[in-house]
Amino acid sequence: TSKTKDKYKIAVIPGDGIGNEVMEAAIYVLNALNINFDYVYGEAGDECLEKNGTALPDETLDIIRNSDACLFGAAGETAADVIVKIRQEMKMFANLRPVKSYPNTNSLSDNIDFMIVRENTEGLYIAGEESYTDEGAVARRIITREAEKRIIEYAFKYAKENNKSKVTGVHKANVLKKSDGLFKDVFYEVAKRYPEIATEDYYVDATAMYLITKPESFDVIVTTNLFGDILSDEGAGLVGGLGLIPSANIGEDAALFEPVHGSAPDIAGQGKANPIAMMLSAIMMLRYLGENEAANRFDGAILKVLNEADILTGDLGGSATTMELAEEVKNNL
Ligand code: ATP
Ligand code: MG
Repeated sequence: TSKTKDKYKIAVIPGDGIGNEVMEAAIYVLNALNINFDYVYGEAGDECLEKNGTALPDETLDIIRNSDACLFGAAGETAADVIVKIRQEMKMFANLRPVKSYPNTNSLSDNIDFMIVRENTEGLYIAGEESYTDEGAVARRIITREAEKRIIEYAFKYAKENNKSKVTGVHKANVLKKSDGLFKDVFYEVAKRYPEIATEDYYVDATAMYLITKPESFDVIVTTNLFGDILSDEGAGLVGGLGLIPSANIGEDAALFEPVHGSAPDIAGQGKANPIAMMLSAIMMLRYLGENEAANRFDGAILKVLNEADILTGDLGGSATTMELAEEVKNNL
């Protein structure tokens, strides 16, 4: 978390489809918060590929490099490539997915509010697969003390700074005794330095069940790459609706905030996308920048709009447009 500044340089990459629409809506509300943002727009995604022959031009990477934070909308077919490349270039080692229930949405329970902190640089993703024959193949899973310590420390620091009382370490150390055994050891080594924060550790399979049977009991979950990927989507399912779920990619000195949904070509250009996931991503950015008061105002305004359930987009059962919802949020700041 950086200190607040008089002026922030924000890289803005709307991307494809509804990325453009939800970005416009989020920035509309951000501009009402009286914070000095200098937006620098960059291109990425399918349209960019068609126009420039690359889905992620060097200029866009430079814009991100020279910014305090980046807001990203959505990329279509090229999404995975674009985001993976940005993560690697900017060494964004942490992927954060908040799982929070909002009123009048399709949430399994009313009191869900936890953060999944996923390691983003190693595990089963980075080592690649070795193809042997048609009869079999091998995938390697790399777990290092350095990377796991960094993500676990991030999770504890996050818990402390955000008044979360518990961190849950998730692994499969009963089967993966060496790799996840190391993860578990490091988890408790780091935990010792945070005596004020409660700790527990679960096997990933048990966690998958507890997310359904006692989702209210979680505060911060920290885990390795693949487990984090899977549990994140389970978390999204818990609180219902792609239109509501933000995420963050955090590095040592770079951070990117984006909704979990994609470019939604089926509704793009119609002004009916739900901008709340993008807005909640912008709120995560505000907290990252240390602008907590503004973040609370923005979050409170969204809560009011959802509570009143008067102006909602189609995915939430209403008929409002993207910008009508943005206007309503702004009026409730
Ligand atoms: P992409 O290839 O970019 O991932 P997609 O077709 O997979 O696009 P998603 O964006 O992942 O589309 O969305 C899946 C479904 O959820 C679509 O039917 C889409 O309309 C809907 N959806 C996604 N985001 C929103 C949103 N913000 N508001 C309303 N509906 C949404
Ligand atoms: Mg998709």
